Formats: sequence, structure tokens, C-alpha cells
Amino acid sequence: MPKDQPPAEAFLKDIFGFDSFRPGQGEIVEAVAGGENVLAIMPTGGGKSLCFQLPALMRPGVTVVISPLIALMRDQVRGLREAGVVAGALTSGNTPEETDAVWDALHDGSLKLLYLAPERLANAGTQRMLAEAGVSLIAVDEAHCVSQWGHDFRPDYLRIGELRRMLDVPLAAFTATADVETQQEIVTRLFDGQAPRTFLRGFDRPNITLAFQPKNSPRTQILSYAAARRSQSGIVYCGTRAKTEGIAKALRDDGHPACHYHGGMEADDRRHVEERFAREDGLIVCATVAFGMGVDKPDIRWVAHADLPKSIEAYYQEIGRAGRDGAPAETLTLYGPDDIRLRRAQIDEGNAPPDRRAADHGRLNALLGLAEAQGCRRQALLAYFGEKAAPCGNCDLCETPPELFDGTEAVRKALSA
Ligand code: ADP
Ligand code: MG
Ligand code: ZN
Repeated sequence: MPKDQPPAEAFLKDIFGFDSFRPGQGEIVEAVAGGENVLAIMPTGGGKSLCFQLPALMRPGVTVVISPLIALMRDQVRGLREAGVVAGALTSGNTPEETDAVWDALHDGSLKLLYLAPERLANAGTQRMLAEAGVSLIAVDEAHCVSQWGHDFRPDYLRIGELRRMLDVPLAAFTATADVETQQEIVTRLFDGQAPRTFLRGFDRPNITLAFQPKNSPRTQILSYAAARRSQSGIVYCGTRAKTEGIAKALRDDGHPACHYHGGMEADDRRHVEERFAREDGLIVCATVAFGMGVDKPDIRWVAHADLPKSIEAYYQEIGRAGRDGAPAETLTLYGPDDIRLRRAQIDEGNAPPDRRAADHGRLNALLGLAEAQGCRRQALLAYFGEKAAPCGNCDLCETPPELFDGTEAVRKALSA
């Protein structure tokens, strides 16, 4: 290795085995290693873990990593150990031997990364131990879990701010959730309102075509969309369980391999669909939003929404399941006045407190803004996530002038209803 090579690059190759940083990673690593407070927002799969794991090796002492899922923590610890890094986790899943080994490594100063389950922070013993352990950095993975208005809220995340004050060390927070309210909450709760250096990176998925259509006859529209994409794997997201079954049947009647998936099915049946989808080429799954977390198929060629998603974040996540392999993929979202009314009613009828409801309406309205956009949809979508972009040439509005497109009437009716 040449002498003048910066240490970050050396660790990147020697420890992690990567040739180069992904977009954004290099700057984030530099800021975190340099001891700045950082909030980094990168899409799922963007490579956030490296952005705290690598700086942890560059900083003195130990980095505490707070992460919401024991399985994820154990997975990262295993990966780090295989790479020769001294890392450990303190979670409820530990054997006494594992916990002893972590304590020993902490005491003899060899531990570089300590993964901590958030509920551990409530423990006075843990706090004392951390105060004496030579912590030089706190990394918070899935930092949106601190947001009380989000679905992943973890009350114990609220203790992280206290930990930061006690240890008085830099904190780096990572999330894939980019909306402004969540960002503000992260800044308030993790950084005491002192704006950290913020990185917002790479939300564009240029290989995915974006398109919206007013909903006329959803079943016919979905059938013709699928017919033009025969033998390609796709997902049809539906607003109700009944509709997943109805559309799956219509697709089968039309000669497609198709099945349905929703939260009302037995766990075994759901797993069966997940496995079939992963294995089989060209299967179409008609699903509610329950079909998500477990879907890790790289070659999904299209995603259609038979009904409008509940928010712009949900839309981005759901279309984002297409084309993970980077090859061209297409999406179509249908929407009409009934969708808008239904989504509004769902927000209003929920038990959420008023400011949460206001935020949910905001996220739905942002999606309606996208549905009604007059210019490039990707530009509008990325602008929501804080990114500037030129017109993409890969959305329906870039391809077809907006004058020819009339979805506005449906929305106007709904708004005045
Ligand atoms: P995120 O937490 O942002 O969803 P991960 O940290 O889990 O993403 O990383 C996703 C994948 O990308 C992992 O398999 C990881 O090993 C890989 N990865 C991360 N950084 C790089 C890089 N610089 N070069 C190649 N692969 C990378
Ligand atoms: Mg991650
Ligand atoms: Zn465009």
C-alpha cells in the first residue's frame, strides 16, 4: 500500500474488502471520523453501516452502536469479527459467556465496536460502564426509531440524547427515512436541537420508470399493464385484502402465474408465497403493504399500485422494490377520488394525536402533489427528499407533455367533496 494513501481508503480495502466508496460514503466517513456530529440519510442498501464501522476503527477507544434489532446487531458483529475487528454486542440474546467476553474486551481496551440494544440504556449499570469505557463515538442506526410519529418508534431511543450528554462525545445518526418532520425530530431528540452536519444522499433510482394514471377501471388497467409485461416478475399493491385475491384471480384467468399475499393469511401460506416469488421467474404477487420486509428479490421488473399508497414515503418504498439489480424496471400508480377520500378517512379515523395526523396528511398530500405534477415526476419526488435533479426523461411526464394528461378532474372532485 502506498504511504500517502489516506487511512480511510486503506481500511476500506484491507478490512472491508471494497475497492471504492459508494456515493456519499467517503464524505460521511471523513466527517464522522473527524468527530463531527452527523446525520446521514441514505436509502436502504446505500451502505450506511460502513459509515460508522469504518470511522470506529479510525477513532480511539470504543464506538457504541445503538440499533433496534438484535438480529441485525448480531449479523454486523459476526461480519466485523470475520474481518478481524474486535466487536461485540450486549443484548438480551447473549449467553453469559458472550457477555463476559464483551466486558473483558471492553476492560482491556481492545473492543472497537460495542453494539447495544436500546433498552440497555435504561440500566444504571450500563451507563456507569459506558462512562468509564473510553467511548469516543456514538452511532445510532435506524435513527428514525426516535420519531414518535413513525411506525418504528422505540421509546428507549429517547434515552440516547441523555447518553450523549453524559459521555459528551460526537454522535452520528443514520436513517433511510428522509421526510422533514422525522429529520427535525432526530435533531431535537438526539442532538438537543443543535443541527448536526447533514448528508442526504442518493435517493434516485434512475432505472425505475415512474408513471401515474387516473383510475378508470383498475382491474382492466392492471390487466393490460401485466399483459404488456408477460413473464416478468411484478408486484401489484392493493388497498384491501379482498382486492389482492380478486386481481390475482383475474391475472390467472388471463394466463399469468399470479398469487395473493396479505396479513390475513396463515404465516405458512405467506412464507410459501415469499419463497415462490424468490425462486420463480415471472410470478406476479398481488399484495397489501404486508408484502415488504421479506421481499429481497433483485429482478422485480415492475410494480403497479391498483390503489394509491398512503404517503409519499410508502410510495417510494414500494416502487423501490423494483429493479434492485439496476436493470430497467417500470412502475405505475393508479389513483382516483375514492382513494384520496379513503386515505384521508383512514388518517382521521386513526387514534393518532393531532400533530401526528397533520404530519400524515402532509405525507399523503405530498403524494397527491406527485400524482398531479405538471413536470418531471422524479424531480418532484427527489425534491421531496431534498435532492435537486434535472428532468429525468424516464417518467410518463417527461415522455408525454402534461397537457395531454388529465388526472386533475378526479382530484378536484375529491377535494371539494
Ligand atoms: P444500509 O444500512 O444503508 O441499508 P448496508 O450498510 O446494509 O446498507 O449495506 C448494504 C450492502 O452494501 C452490504 O452488503 C454492504 O456490504 C455493501 N456495501 C457497503 N458499502 C460498500 C462499498 N463501498 N462497496 C461495495 N459494497 C458496499
Ligand atoms: Mg442498515
Ligand atoms: Zn421525468
